[in-house]
Amino acid sequence: MLEEGLPRETLMKHREPQDIIDVHCHCFAGRELAAPVAAGLARLRSAGVRHLAVMGLVNTSFSVEDICKLIPEGFDYLGEPLYYEADDLLEFTHSSGGMLFPMVDTRCLRGDVPALLQSYFAGGFRGIKGLYLADDGNDLHLAGIPELFGISLEQYHRREWQIFAFAEANDLPVLYHMDASRYGDVMRAMLDDFPSLRINFPHFGISRRALSAILECYPNVYTDIAYMRPHILNNPASYRDFICSYPDRVCFGSDALLYQPEIVLEYLDLVRSLKLPGEVEAQVLSGNPCRFLGLPTTAC
Ligand SMILES: [Zn+2]
Repeated sequence: MLEEGLPRETLMKHREPQDIIDVHCHCFAGRELAAPVAAGLARLRSAGVRHLAVMGLVNTSFSVEDICKLIPEGFDYLGEPLYYEADDLLEFTHSSGGMLFPMVDTRCLRGDVPALLQSYFAGGFRGIKGLYLADDGNDLHLAGIPELFGISLEQYHRREWQIFAFAEANDLPVLYHMDASRYGDVMRAMLDDFPSLRINFPHFGISRRALSAILECYPNVYTDIAYMRPHILNNPASYRDFICSYPDRVCFGSDALLYQPEIVLEYLDLVRSLKLPGEVEAQVLSGNPCRFLGLPTTAC
């Protein structure tokens, strides 16, 4: 009723999703960047972005030299010098008026994992980020955590299982970078042990073919398009088909750093360039991220 009499362009605009959620950003910014970060978030808000899930590192025991072995090249880190981003990210979250959804990056966690996680969530974190780095054969060419920490693979797995157990018990979403083709067996073991965990294996699980088999079997598994722009632009039809085959699983994500709103906008253009059916595009931009993060549907 309200829309009657409005020009067609206004109607079209009015119906565009205004609840876009990016499930995959990284902080990499310190509080001295508060002004440009706030300006970037305002720009995204006016483009219809409602939430950004932002990963924050929490280094408590490593040297900067060692931490750098756990961070892929090509990302300009402008955050806290010792890679402890929790306080700055929670400050950004507070001043964003709830636009940011902070997730604690567990790659550097050492010690009493459940107690550490408890403290981060008491402070305001709402989700978990992990990276499966069992050895140096990972797709990111990063050091293996067992080697870097001086622990066995079993001890490393015990840490990851503690992280998943905490997430499942507390109904928290997990964004977990893991190569579905190289580590498919471990992936299945994790999913079998935590059947109600909501988990996003980003970047199409590094292998769409291997991830498909996982998506078929595990209904709580999501994926995202972060960092995939060059691949998608190279072969849009194939990625369009994949997304349409799993319309309730693929989430909007950009891998943008908190001070790079233009990358989020580039990914938004990328999704729109795929010309997905309207309801699929709405699921990718809003519905799937909302369910993965566990946001109330009124927020989506
Ligand atoms: Zn990422």
